[in-house]
Amino acid sequence: MARRFEDSELVIASHNSGKVREIGELLEPFAISATSAGALGLPEPEETGATFAENAALKAHASVAGSGLPALADDSGFSVGALDGAPGIHAARFAQRADGVRDYPWAMEQLHEASRDAENDLAWFTCALALAWPDGHAEIFEGRVAGTLVWPPRGDRGFGYDPMFVPEGYSETFGEMVPSTKHAMSHRAIAFRAMIEACFTRHDS
Ligand code: IMP
Repeated sequence: MARRFEDSELVIASHNSGKVREIGELLEPFAISATSAGALGLPEPEETGATFAENAALKAHASVAGSGLPALADDSGFSVGALDGAPGIHAARFAQRADGVRDYPWAMEQLHEASRDAENDLAWFTCALALAWPDGHAEIFEGRVAGTLVWPPRGDRGFGYDPMFVPEGYSETFGEMVPSTKHAMSHRAIAFRAMIEACFTRHDS
């Protein structure tokens, strides 16, 4: 049995304002006051884990240590079947050019060039969520959405690798979909639903 979340305050263990906004919105029905690690000036830990779950747990525990409050972290990434699941947990670093700037059109082109001769066009997004408490306990949830790679990239909605990914059963890329469609079935949505069912109680009904 997962531990229920009974507190009224939570730190969102991220410095990414898009992620903080998205997680804050998802937590709205739960009467929880959420602050971000960025707003609290907490340092970002090195993501040294070997899995999404390990990296999410690292980030959540670092925010707990810095704030004394429970924390929720998300670690996510994009995997290409023809590249044995790369870039996977390194998806953010993979998009970084030599000058340190993240360039997703360039990163997508690298993935396309490296996989274009393979017959396997499978790809998937993964999201791990870690909810950690000050006593060291953590609950981890994972969501995954599978689909295929497309080239050239399509759509200017979404972010990151969205324009080169068509989820199974759909014809639009994540970059073309209206956000509500993506948010109802994404890797993040799947992990969130599992966490909410296991740990949270709604206060709006
Ligand atoms: P993180 O911030 O270390 O978890 O890195 C996540 C990486 O995966 C970044 O490169 C994101 O752009 C990519 N990523 C995660 N989720 C998505 C998504 O829903 N769409 C597109 N890219 C994503």
